[in-house]
Amino acid sequence: MTTSLLVPTTDDPIRDRIERLRREIEHHNRLYYVEAAPVISDAEYDRLVKDLEALEAERPDLVTPDSPTQRVGGAPLGEFITVEHTVPMLSIDNAYSEAELREWATRVRKGLTSTEPIHYVVELKIDGVAIGLRYENGRLVRAVTRGDGERGDDITANARTIHDIPLVLDERRTPAPEVLEVRGEVFMTESELARLNQLRREAGEPPYANSRNLTTGTLKQLDPRQVAKRRLRFTTHGLGETRGLELRSYWAILERLRDWGLPIGPHHARYDDIEAVWRHIQTWKIQRASLDFRTDGVVVKVDDLGQRERLGTRSKSPRWALAFKYDAEQAITKVRGVTIQVGKTGKLTPVAELEPVLLAGTIVKRASLHNPEEIARKDVRIGDTVVVEKAGEIIPQVVRVRTEDRDGTEQPFVFPTRCPCDRADVVKPPGEVDVRCPIPALQCHRQFKEWLAWFAHRDAMDIDGLGEKLIDQLVERGLVKTPADLYRLDVPTLAALDRMGKKSAENLVKAIAASKSRSLDRLLVGLTIRHVGVGSAETLARKFGTLEALRAATIDELKAVPDIGEIVAESVFQYLRDPANIAMIDDLLSVGVSPTAPPVIVARAGLPLAGKTVVLTGTLPTLKRSAAEDLIKSLGGKVSGSVSKTTSLVVAGADAGSKLVNALKLGVTVIDEATLLALANPTQPPVEFIVGEPHLKPATPLEREESPRQPDALVPPVSENQTCTPEPARSGDASVAPAPPHTAEPIAEPARSGDASVTPAPSPVATESKSLEGQQVLILGHFVKPWTQPKLAEWIKARRGVVTQSPGRATLALVGTKPSATKLAEVDARQVIRLDLITMLSRYGDPAVAVPTAAASQVEQAVEAASPTSPVRRARSGKASHVPSGQDRLLFPIED
Ligand SMILES: [Zn+2]
Repeated sequence: MTTSLLVPTTDDPIRDRIERLRREIEHHNRLYYVEAAPVISDAEYDRLVKDLEALEAERPDLVTPDSPTQRVGGAPLGEFITVEHTVPMLSIDNAYSEAELREWATRVRKGLTSTEPIHYVVELKIDGVAIGLRYENGRLVRAVTRGDGERGDDITANARTIHDIPLVLDERRTPAPEVLEVRGEVFMTESELARLNQLRREAGEPPYANSRNLTTGTLKQLDPRQVAKRRLRFTTHGLGETRGLELRSYWAILERLRDWGLPIGPHHARYDDIEAVWRHIQTWKIQRASLDFRTDGVVVKVDDLGQRERLGTRSKSPRWALAFKYDAEQAITKVRGVTIQVGKTGKLTPVAELEPVLLAGTIVKRASLHNPEEIARKDVRIGDTVVVEKAGEIIPQVVRVRTEDRDGTEQPFVFPTRCPCDRADVVKPPGEVDVRCPIPALQCHRQFKEWLAWFAHRDAMDIDGLGEKLIDQLVERGLVKTPADLYRLDVPTLAALDRMGKKSAENLVKAIAASKSRSLDRLLVGLTIRHVGVGSAETLARKFGTLEALRAATIDELKAVPDIGEIVAESVFQYLRDPANIAMIDDLLSVGVSPTAPPVIVARAGLPLAGKTVVLTGTLPTLKRSAAEDLIKSLGGKVSGSVSKTTSLVVAGADAGSKLVNALKLGVTVIDEATLLALANPTQPPVEFIVGEPHLKPATPLEREESPRQPDALVPPVSENQTCTPEPARSGDASVAPAPPHTAEPIAEPARSGDASVTPAPSPVATESKSLEGQQVLILGHFVKPWTQPKLAEWIKARRGVVTQSPGRATLALVGTKPSATKLAEVDARQVIRLDLITMLSRYGDPAVAVPTAAASQVEQAVEAASPTSPVRRARSGKASHVPSGQDRLLFPIED
């Protein structure tokens, strides 16, 4: 590596190697801690440190205080106020094999008496950013990053934006101690990363590489409002300074932390022996792939705090904890050569051509080398043996060169000074790392090929059958020199190409012709205007309607378009005034490309969803999101991205997240896909239609959106002497979050989402309890046919409930229209749980108890009727909460 090569050599080879390793480790420390842009995996980094430790053990005379082995990490980020940790945030030693795990267990045993029981608590090691949260008398006073372990950055303002972090501890069960400092991990779920990248894509920006880097970068933001836009998560995994906390078992402390409202991972377990720990580790090696967050290992800790004290701490890590790290998916192969890829906007990317190797289930033949500086830094040469890795991303990376395998025949790669198009010398603007071909794409056939592929892309002109190989032939034979040339191709010309028959040529000509009438936004995407992504293209197309109008727009008119920023406006304006682009677009028009206006959404009276604002959430069983949106639009509805008081309807599928929670909070009607389909086709057989509380599967504790907390039911029970066994793999666990605290975030009071002082409430998602056993149900008011009071009483008795007339005895109140005001007041005063009919039927009925309805008009009435109502209190499991009231809701007619 280049950094290593800077070390002057002495006649002491070990001294040289130590010095090289130290510099390399420091380099990676800086990339990781300061620049938040690590380039090697943790496993690779840890190996470097281990190598150094081994050498220093051999030569203690060479150990200096500034060796990376003598401290925990790198320097703090620098832009925030630096705060000293009252108790250092230590790092944890890593193990990579069963043998290392057992050696650690043996050392732990040796440090204690030979007979005393040892309990181990295991936790998933989440790939995020470690922070400490300091609570004084139950209030969050400070959040500090780990930094170098001794000092970190005060990121309190940023931490407050993280919904998982309680600002005030919940003291209903146990008062908070005077001082409580918890340590934990801030992280980002993969679905959140995907959501943010979708927004980036729509904005025409490159996607973020991975969730951990983005988390680090986000916490470094000086503007907490920016932090809040990215929905970071937090999970607790340890303690710092505490005053007034008497518990001596970590397992018991976790339970206590959960009581206080701190998020604790759901996949904790406690074991009595290391065999069980090892089985747990093996189980999670497979299962972690199904999680919605990245984990790279399992942390094993001695449970008893007294034992921990006796075991003590070494210079940088405690003896009572060990991080077992799963191997990153790496493979070793050879670099056969380096080729240059030219992107559609002219960027030259060096690509390592590898000897094919099996990595994480796929054959890898190429790996990106990013830019010339990266090649120089890693010193990748042709013929080198390299370690390649898939670190959560799809594109494999070259992690490092195995310089020890070199035999002298390796050839350094000389980055070309000329673009492979051979039309221009490359440029590298000062201060930038990327090398570019400076000429326009129409003149550089390498850029042009990429551009054509993009032009035909699904998000752009959507030309089926125009693949990479075909584009190569078309461009190389000079058949296509501009996008318009595509529309001049005929069947005989295409049929004469390699791997093309008459039939496929005919199909391609048809597909190309069909793309002539794609909407304007798709054409704009296809043109590859800088900064214009799918989202802004659609905005522009809707605003201007026609290409003519867009071309005629002044810069001020462009800037005035809502959601179009100055940069996009400038870019579009310049693009449309460039003579070459003008000619190219005119050429497209001359061959018959005639972009249509994007469909305008207007509320059409008479349609089932006319004037309705509809929100989609979760995965629908059959409809793709775009298809569902189209369907809603065709029914006269407007699709919106977020739930508010103006939302008429939420269509929820599996894994629905906080949008569903918000809908329930606001009393917005929730329907499923079948109901949506029934709206479109009223003659369909009965469908399920649920108001208030859908019986969607509750197996998705991780809210995909900004969801605050998790439902109770998913938290494994914790007790002082319990030994957990790992949960068996369940398909429903696919997105289980690490942080369901004991109490869930309030489902009402949206304005105070960050305020932990509001009373926590159970999840609104239906629980598993179906029986009404032990419940005394008070029926108030009138209900839709056929639910007369006798019929309701019968239904309740069939589920082992008791019908009562007394609000004093009632545990549940079923409230219909026109209830007795005095009884209702008493119900509320006694905090009796209130339910509306549909909620009761869906919660206590058969999972499929649905209210059948056939006609769309009835659904329409229900939609109409389900206006937001004021929340009422209820009490469940001793907790107060808020649910939408059914009180004023006119339930729709039900047919027998
Ligand atoms: Zn070029």
